[in-house]
Amino acid sequence: MIDLRSDTVTRPSDEMRAAARDADVGDDVYGDDPTVNELEARAAESVGMDDAVFVPSGTMGNQIAARVHTDPGQEALVDVEAHVYKWEVGGFAQLSGLQVRAFDAGSRGVPTPEQVREHAREESLHVAGTGLLCLENTHNARGGVAVSKADIDAAADAAHELGIPVHLDGARLFNACVALDEDPAAMAERVDSVMFCLSKGLGAPVGSILAGSEAFVENAVRVRKQFGGGMRQAGIIAAPGLLALDNVERLADDHENARVLAEGLDAVDGLSAATPDTNIVVVDSEAAGMTADAFVEACESVGVLGGTFGEYHTRFTTNLNVSRADVEHAVELAGDAVESR
Ligand SMILES: *Cc1c(COP(=O)(O)O)cnc(C)c1O
Repeated sequence: MIDLRSDTVTRPSDEMRAAARDADVGDDVYGDDPTVNELEARAAESVGMDDAVFVPSGTMGNQIAARVHTDPGQEALVDVEAHVYKWEVGGFAQLSGLQVRAFDAGSRGVPTPEQVREHAREESLHVAGTGLLCLENTHNARGGVAVSKADIDAAADAAHELGIPVHLDGARLFNACVALDEDPAAMAERVDSVMFCLSKGLGAPVGSILAGSEAFVENAVRVRKQFGGGMRQAGIIAAPGLLALDNVERLADDHENARVLAEGLDAVDGLSAATPDTNIVVVDSEAAGMTADAFVEACESVGVLGGTFGEYHTRFTTNLNVSRADVEHAVELAGDAVESR
């Protein structure tokens, strides 16, 4: 099987397994785990923030950020295709008491300053004020779009002018930065908090990072405890996370493989795929007369795994465990899958 369902399917390397076994550990709820502390320090530095907290998942990181930045009854501004809105089980509403104002931020998923001003609401007797703007980079549902620093900065500045804090869902922040040749610290310079995943393209088995100011992280550690995310000898999972931070540059290989995959699939009669910014390839199979369900099933039967991404759209995600030869093979197999329809 060539598994292109996600970059989360990667298996930890032998080095990661050895690092987990040998990690120095302590009770992290007491702040005693040296490996977690090292990971948090390095991770904070990598995105130019004062401090960071290690969390079990990207979802928990985003949800903690929303809770820390807002008061119940406020509104969160998000793109209608945002992960926090579509795929986090309504957490903003349930865990932070937020009303979500989701609007179409366009094909790259980043709002313009005008859109931020248009959708922001000032609190009044009748109106729930806006308490948070949430941005996403890369933008998953928009097809792994790498949003420029200029666009992130412009949206963040517009929010800040209205007194609204900004969280960046950077689950794949490093993919964006590698694709754009941008420094991650510069990318996160104008936002108040940023989450990124160690467990996606960077290849760690578990874990994400939530970074921000010292005061923000102090509150985030408390909310993490409340959400059940306080961990004990977490150095066991932080050690592979430290090695994952060394996997940033190689994301360029995933992007190149994604480009090869997209061009190959686009050349298959009945399929179309735009050249991706990063490691996410979205394929349209409507011209082949195949729904995404049918296409995904046909691909699976020939040995390629992808995921449905809309009625006629399928997502393939390149990753650390997939080679150039694998993606070239996947193109041939997907061609067979379309032929056999
Ligand atoms: C994967 C993802 C998350 C959530 O991360 P989990 O570790 O799966 O909870 C959040 N935002 C985006 C954009 C993602 O792609």
